[in-house]
Amino acid sequence: MSKYWSDFVHQLVPYVPGEQPKIDNLVKLNTNENPYAPSPKVLEALRAEANEALRRYPDPTSSRVAEAAARWAGVEREQVFVGNGSDEVLAHAFHGLLKHDKPVLFPDISYSFYPVYAGLYQLAFQAVPVNARLEIQIDDYARDNGGIVLANPNAPTGIALSRAEIERLLQRNPDSVVLIDEAYVDFGAESVVGLVARYPQLLVVQTLSKARSLAGLRVGFAFGQRPLIEALTRVKDSFNSYPLDRLASAGAVAALEDVPYFEDTRARVIASREALRGQLTQLGFSVLPSQANFLFARHPSFGGAALAQALRERAVLVRHFRAPRIDEYLRITVGLPEENAALVKALGEILGAR
Ligand SMILES: *Cc1c(COP(=O)(O)O)cnc(C)c1O
Repeated sequence: MSKYWSDFVHQLVPYVPGEQPKIDNLVKLNTNENPYAPSPKVLEALRAEANEALRRYPDPTSSRVAEAAARWAGVEREQVFVGNGSDEVLAHAFHGLLKHDKPVLFPDISYSFYPVYAGLYQLAFQAVPVNARLEIQIDDYARDNGGIVLANPNAPTGIALSRAEIERLLQRNPDSVVLIDEAYVDFGAESVVGLVARYPQLLVVQTLSKARSLAGLRVGFAFGQRPLIEALTRVKDSFNSYPLDRLASAGAVAALEDVPYFEDTRARVIASREALRGQLTQLGFSVLPSQANFLFARHPSFGGAALAQALRERAVLVRHFRAPRIDEYLRITVGLPEENAALVKALGEILGAR
């Protein structure tokens, strides 16, 4: 607090990211980063771009990235917006497309940045409860709204909606924007990017942070019809004309083009997830069906906070949310096979020592 703060800053409630501690030999399964390195072609492209051209501003429209993303997604170049991480894309979408006089709808259990953006841009919202199995019920969104935001797969549950369910929502909700946050879609869910051509209210947001192993590069996208992209561009050009620097642009293009590496690493993560799910189940955990690179699990006789703390003492970091309805759960990022083995070993010790 400070007398220099504006009233606006006094009332902000910022997002709290998972910790990034500087501890050696930590098994870090708390922020859904990819356990595999970025493609070697990305690193090559970054090195090649580290040259005297850095004295120049980058391309304000990130054209090469947008073209590569359009090719990847099967949409037109004009249907792509590029931002500094998908968090920035989401922020611009809240500001430019969801700020209306009616409440925005998103699930009560979802990405905790959504209410933060609503606060930042002073949007009214309603948190729509997920059901007892923590599933999103599409029918609950059939009400007057200023926009609908769903993460698919949802976070932190990992549960995915089918393309058919999202299409049903689009058919019923033609008058406000439907934003589908596909941060984790490449780990097994169905993307709705193919529906962009048919639904003018659909905005699909993706990122290179998860399935492309580039959380440190900060590149995200939105796919939608031209009027939606134009709104995002107007907000961007009123905020920061150059969201992507030259290095990020070069790395992003290389990442989008190295499809074999992407296919290989995401298949490994999916296989590890399924193996880990089996091991956690054997330890007595209930594990939600995840289509993401993390598992959301609870143990019948240990609370989430106690387990997270006991794991921390064994140098294993997972995420626990001190929030209603999910306080018993742990969100565990799928790591390398040896990291997952270290987690299972630590859990075995903790649970065995009762
Ligand atoms: C990780 C994540 C993002 C943000 O990704 P960045 O592109 O790194 O900003 C967005 N939405 C959800 C649901 C996420 O989990």
